[in-house]
Amino acid sequence: MDLNTIEKVARPSSRAQLPVWTAGDAWLAGGTWLFSEPQAHLTRLIDLSDLKWPALTISDSGLSIAATCTVAQLDALACPPDWLASPLINQCCRAFLASFKIWKTATVGGNLCMSLPAGPMISLTSALGGVCTIWKTGGGEQKIGVSDFVIGNQRNVLASGDLLRQIDLPLAALKRRSAFRQISLTPVGRSAALLIGSIGSAGDLTMTVTASTTRPVQLCFAAIPQTKELREALLHHIPDALYHDDVHGKPAWRKHMTLRLAEEIRAELQGLL
Ligand SMILES: Cc1cc2nc3c(=O)[nH]c(=O)nc-3n(C[C@H](O)[C@H](O)[C@H](O)COP(=O)(O)OP(=O)(O)OC[C@H]3O[C@@H](n4cnc5c(N)ncnc54)[C@H](O)[C@@H]3O)c2cc1C
Repeated sequence: MDLNTIEKVARPSSRAQLPVWTAGDAWLAGGTWLFSEPQAHLTRLIDLSDLKWPALTISDSGLSIAATCTVAQLDALACPPDWLASPLINQCCRAFLASFKIWKTATVGGNLCMSLPAGPMISLTSALGGVCTIWKTGGGEQKIGVSDFVIGNQRNVLASGDLLRQIDLPLAALKRRSAFRQISLTPVGRSAALLIGSIGSAGDLTMTVTASTTRPVQLCFAAIPQTKELREALLHHIPDALYHDDVHGKPAWRKHMTLRLAEEIRAELQGLL
């Protein structure tokens, strides 16, 4: 939709050119959410596209994803064969409730900054130990894990004017074996629960719960737990109030599916040992 309160669109091409942040400003990434509903409080958009950050950079330490990398660019990445967790990339990209038009435009950073429980880029990057780099409004940088970046439904740690620059996924996480489960209330509906489990070479298990909860929850076990231990850990670490409640699923059902999908993941990963 047209945003008819916008008076100006700034197009900086470097950090030095970022305008001084003022009330009524918003960063514009893909714009798939910004242009999807009225934004009567906004008067200026600061378009990130001319910053021309390289979308994806593979290095000895892992994968660096620019905040402006689109979902389609990430999905098309050819991963090294020893990145055993790489199927998660395609699985999470397909967990969007969205058409190809959204896919080609929506960015990874925009998805994190929206901080919707059903943000599949949050699921992916939190499960893979992603670390966010934030450009602070007044200068300087802040690093924070994705699991701590999102703190609730449409809530995150960004202060006014902070800019998410990139998300770094460590190599060790990309080499873990993984299992993915996702469910929606309707066939192509928004995710109501999205769980990712992964095991390291030492047999340790990490279970990441997203979509069913208002923020990511990550549980780590030194070895693959038994059914009962996993269930008790989930019940202990996820209070009922943390389960999300909206038209895409009632909290009680989301809780039930979380426990069920976690057990499926546990059993699948145990079978790989
Ligand atoms: C049909 C449809 C289906 C959708 N399905 C889903 C879904 O299944 N799951 C889901 O989570 N979302 C969904 N969305 C919402 C949205 O499209 C996605 O969250 C998308 O990833 C947002 O990315 P964007 O680049 O378009 O963000 P934009 O719309 O450009 O921005 C979103 C918000 O984040 C801020 N922002 C963007 N980039 C940065 C940055 N680098 N630093 C700081 N702030 C920033 C913007 O100012 C704005 O407030 C859907 C939207 C539509 C229209």
